[in-house]
Amino acid sequence: MERVSVFGKYSVTLYLMDNDRFIQVILPLKLEWEPYYRLPEGMGVSVGERVGVVFAHRHYIAVVSGLDCHPTSSPDKILDIEGVETGLPPIGEREIAFWRQVAYYYLCSVGEVYKAAYPSIAIRQEETEVRIRQQLEKRKERLLEKIEKAKFERTRQRYQAELEALENQRREERPPQVKSLSEAQQRALESIKEAFAKGKTVLLHGVTGSGKTEIYLNLAAQVLAEGKSVLFLVPEIALSRQLEERVSEALPEVMVYHSAESAARRREVADRIREADACCVLGTRSALFLPHRNLGLIIVDEEHDRSYKQDSPAPRYNAREAAIMLAICQNARVLLGSATPSLESLYNADTGRFAKVELKERFYKGEEAELMIIDTAAERRKNGMAGSFSLKLLAEIHKTLEQGKQVALLRARRSYAPAVQCSECGKTIKCPHCNVSLSLHRNPERLVCHYCGHTQEYSGVCPDCGGELVPLGGGTQKIAEELQAIYPQARIARLDSDTPPKEEAAIIKSFAKAETDILIGTQMVTKGFDFSGLSLVAVLQADSILAQQDFRADERAIQLFEQFRGRSGRRGSGGLFVIQTREPKHHVFSRLKGEDDTAAILEERRTFGYPPYSRMIQLIFRDGSEKRIDYLSKELAEQLESSLEGVSVVGPYSPAVDRIADQHIRHIRIILPRDKRLSERKEMLVKTISKFEKERKYPGHIAIDVDPV
Ligand code: ADP
Ligand code: ZN
Repeated sequence: MERVSVFGKYSVTLYLMDNDRFIQVILPLKLEWEPYYRLPEGMGVSVGERVGVVFAHRHYIAVVSGLDCHPTSSPDKILDIEGVETGLPPIGEREIAFWRQVAYYYLCSVGEVYKAAYPSIAIRQEETEVRIRQQLEKRKERLLEKIEKAKFERTRQRYQAELEALENQRREERPPQVKSLSEAQQRALESIKEAFAKGKTVLLHGVTGSGKTEIYLNLAAQVLAEGKSVLFLVPEIALSRQLEERVSEALPEVMVYHSAESAARRREVADRIREADACCVLGTRSALFLPHRNLGLIIVDEEHDRSYKQDSPAPRYNAREAAIMLAICQNARVLLGSATPSLESLYNADTGRFAKVELKERFYKGEEAELMIIDTAAERRKNGMAGSFSLKLLAEIHKTLEQGKQVALLRARRSYAPAVQCSECGKTIKCPHCNVSLSLHRNPERLVCHYCGHTQEYSGVCPDCGGELVPLGGGTQKIAEELQAIYPQARIARLDSDTPPKEEAAIIKSFAKAETDILIGTQMVTKGFDFSGLSLVAVLQADSILAQQDFRADERAIQLFEQFRGRSGRRGSGGLFVIQTREPKHHVFSRLKGEDDTAAILEERRTFGYPPYSRMIQLIFRDGSEKRIDYLSKELAEQLESSLEGVSVVGPYSPAVDRIADQHIRHIRIILPRDKRLSERKEMLVKTISKFEKERKYPGHIAIDVDPV
């Protein structure tokens, strides 16, 4: 063995070995380095293969990231790998390149990205295939049994038909077919293709109902016909379910994928991607981390949507940005679409980084929904309110139902009531673990914390003074109850995150088929659904949406309202959009009346140096001790201020909810100029933080969130 010292920027000792061969691996951990292992004699591996290793006395499945390495630590301490995981398909080099790009941009470790991409490595391919086959076999067996036992000819026939359908599943597929485009749509498609030819990412800014989806499908069909794969991203699982049918009718080989799918399903989709020449995956943000190859096009529908951002755990990525990184690794094109594009994308279009294509007319001609703003404070004074509803809105609901049309209502709070208060002493009941009010839920009646899930019984009596507790305001549950009392005949459904995921699809489907008259829900009901019979949409207590304290609050409110408005009158029948608010003069509403103030909002962002004119990074401290979090977050803020010149450090400050699950929370916001020194500064930031954590042996947790939303 020979020891060589290399001097340069750093001085390191390389151990050059005669016989031993070393590899580097990526571990599914928050590790800043890729550790070395020794290959046992006679064993060969290649980059991307998965190997079993021991790290800090625990077993992991790691990904080989480097061959023939020269370790920088003494080889005596380097362990042998335990073996090659031949049952697991290797990771492609492009896939690893994508992970590295995401880790680099979002300031996390590549291991954390690996962990996100392969969340449940434990399931082996063989097991899955067997399980899927078994499931089918079991269903068949059960049907056969039922047929035998059936007492009536009619039931027997029904089971027989089900069995045949199961067996014919593959045979009866119709050849997929896209719709032919209107002239305006065709022009937009041509412009998109021209921009793609120049290698640009395209922002398709098209009003709701303009047929953006049909354009995506046409483009996707062409890409598939050229033998390349397509990734079609949507922000919500519920949306992917509604789109599945539409996409499958238009394209061959469509697979739906999202994070709520089982590990077995993930394997199935991943295997299909590995073997298919060209296929289309319709999925939510986690679908970015499938083992894509041969990708030609990535579509990001509703690109402004906040659900594209992963808040926790790392990587805290935004699928819109990550899609562009993936496209670079795959040499694919990216199409971003929205009726209300994010300011980031509009900025990128302004600066020429993206090409912008506009689609200003709806496919079914006709005006967008008319706007009616109802001042609830004024109505209350005039006795014009009945519970959560103004009489004016009730009259419109009545009219709509009489015409056999449908109604959708948005209330941004789930539960029966977002808070309960003592009528004697004024106390509101808070979560014992979080600094938030408990929400009242019914069926069964209980108090629930929407942050940590804490649940307690509801006695209706104030624990302090014994006074009577009264619900404050109304959530979706209460609104449904009020409405059912007014319209006992109406078929009313509720859609919010209390809805079991399994029922979501059925609720949306039945509303789409007009089997329900009124749909009440949280933000979920505003997303890109296509409901043909929906003609009245209304926002209740819009004030809770306007009240958020954040520089993005207005932008978000406008997007939400515009999206919701776009759900109604989609067959050219106009439709009505009602907003109930105590603040009818809020400037967000003037935008809905047709004033385009994007330029003004952008100008304001520029003046204050906010994104998109700068990069924002948020540090999130979490600590059980309030005293410690306060002085340590202050200390780090000071260190950052002195080590990073040219950036502004805001905080530490307490966010709106400053304690969750017994952990105190503090934020520091760092605003970096978008210039050549950006990545250098980001690197410096990470170094300062990890040095701080080591020096102070910080037992709390500091998360780094790049581009928080
Ligand atoms: P967007 O995605 O822009 O909101 P959609 O693609 O959902 O709009 O289109 C709105 C409605 O118009 C849908 O019901 C869709 O099927 C219909 N539509 C749009 N373009 C066409 C077309 N070229 N041919 C037939 N129907 C279309
Ligand atoms: Zn709580």
